[in-house]
Amino acid sequence: MHSYWLDTSTPSGDYSQTEIPKEVDIAVVGGGFTGLSAAYHAAKRGLSVAVLEAHTVNWGASGRNGGMATTGLAVGFGSAVKRYGEPRAIAYFKEYNAAIDLIENLVQEHQLDVDYARTGKMNLAVKPQHFDGMQRTAEQLQRLVGQPVSVVDRANIRSEIGSDAYYGAMVDQLGAGMHVGKFGHELARLAIEAGATIHEQAEVVDVERIGSGAMHILKTSRGNVKAGSVILGTSGYTGKPFGWNQRRIIPVGSFIVVTEPLPQEVVDELLPNRRMTSTMVNFTHYFRITPDNRLLFGGRARFALSDPSQDRESGEILTKAMREVFPQLRDARIDYMWGGLVDISMDMMTHAGQHEGIFYSHSYNGHGVQMANYMGKVMVDVAQGHPEANIWRDLKNPWIPGYFGNPWAHLRAGGAFFALQDKLS
Ligand SMILES: Cc1cc2nc3c(=O)[nH]c(=O)nc-3n(C[C@H](O)[C@H](O)[C@H](O)COP(=O)(O)OP(=O)(O)OC[C@H]3O[C@@H](n4cnc5c(N)ncnc54)[C@H](O)[C@@H]3O)c2cc1C
Repeated sequence: MHSYWLDTSTPSGDYSQTEIPKEVDIAVVGGGFTGLSAAYHAAKRGLSVAVLEAHTVNWGASGRNGGMATTGLAVGFGSAVKRYGEPRAIAYFKEYNAAIDLIENLVQEHQLDVDYARTGKMNLAVKPQHFDGMQRTAEQLQRLVGQPVSVVDRANIRSEIGSDAYYGAMVDQLGAGMHVGKFGHELARLAIEAGATIHEQAEVVDVERIGSGAMHILKTSRGNVKAGSVILGTSGYTGKPFGWNQRRIIPVGSFIVVTEPLPQEVVDELLPNRRMTSTMVNFTHYFRITPDNRLLFGGRARFALSDPSQDRESGEILTKAMREVFPQLRDARIDYMWGGLVDISMDMMTHAGQHEGIFYSHSYNGHGVQMANYMGKVMVDVAQGHPEANIWRDLKNPWIPGYFGNPWAHLRAGGAFFALQDKLS
């Protein structure tokens, strides 16, 4: 039940005994991409920063994902145009391009050895009508955003994927992939080198606001810290002391299986261009080739949370699905199987801002590899008095009706609703 990424990377240090400072400019809650990126950028600006992480660095979704830094929103571009109008939809879409650029710049600036590569993103049509929609989306993205997208019809699909399961594809050259275990650990190293401190096994259990500004005392399982500002980066793992945020996020399990390393000729047949690939349905499958030539195959499998038994059951469903898509892998051994929590919001959009003096960014809806990194930096700007840096600031951020933090009831209802949508789409 261990993530391939964490199993094949080395932490930059052990931060479980580090002394929690009495006072800092910025306290960051959560040691994933949002938190580590915020810590790195804040420390680089000369601020004192402490990262408080309940478990270990990258323990959450940041160490468990598909490693795909892809373009685009979690909602279709056409839907975004209908909801928000062209100018805002274009701006929201471009923010994801900027987020990938930020990662690429960081990798280049520090020569990070994290297997970063812009091999492109690919969406697959599961039904013939999905391909019609793809063609419309590609036209809109080229015309309105200038995005380098192209479509591949069923007759030519073998140039992109060694499977007959799909009715066409849309390829976006700007998508990228990386080794998120190595990247997360490198980000922690950069944050430390810039002057931040990291505190693992330091769960924030209570928050006390001082006055009406951004100053707080955070009580952790290892001691208290007074912070000029607090940045919350807990995403799908947001819990009790941050109830306002918790009620706006439904944590949904997403699961992954990874095969043994495959011969080069099999890799070249499965995904010759090594795209970051996903299907266009709610019960999505996403897959890619890992840096050492394994197939990573993930999906929602079914609506469930993540724990060892759910991970195993979902992993078995995914293994079967993987073998249906790629019969070539009928005998391939599965070396890894794990799950993690994706933070879903009512409108499938990123939400970031300030509530009762706490700065927060979450609800990446399964698209947080790039956006969490980006928003960590943005939230430092916001904390320093630049709310306009946060493009998501005007989005309504509704409470999920009737949701008090027990996701199971919502998962069952949500699962049935999304399955019906997939059937009708
Ligand atoms: C299986 C899976 C596959 C995914 N695949 C992709 C993908 O391919 N591409 C993509 O773009 N996105 C993907 N995502 C989503 C992406 O991984 C996340 O959006 C992103 O990593 C969120 O980063 P984060 O730092 O905000 O949160 P996380 O990485 O989840 O970190 C939150 C941290 O907060 C800590 N925490 C929580 N409460 C407290 C507290 N009270 N005190 C201290 N610490 C606390 C947790 O321990 C955790 O470590 C996937 C997610 C999953 C689960």
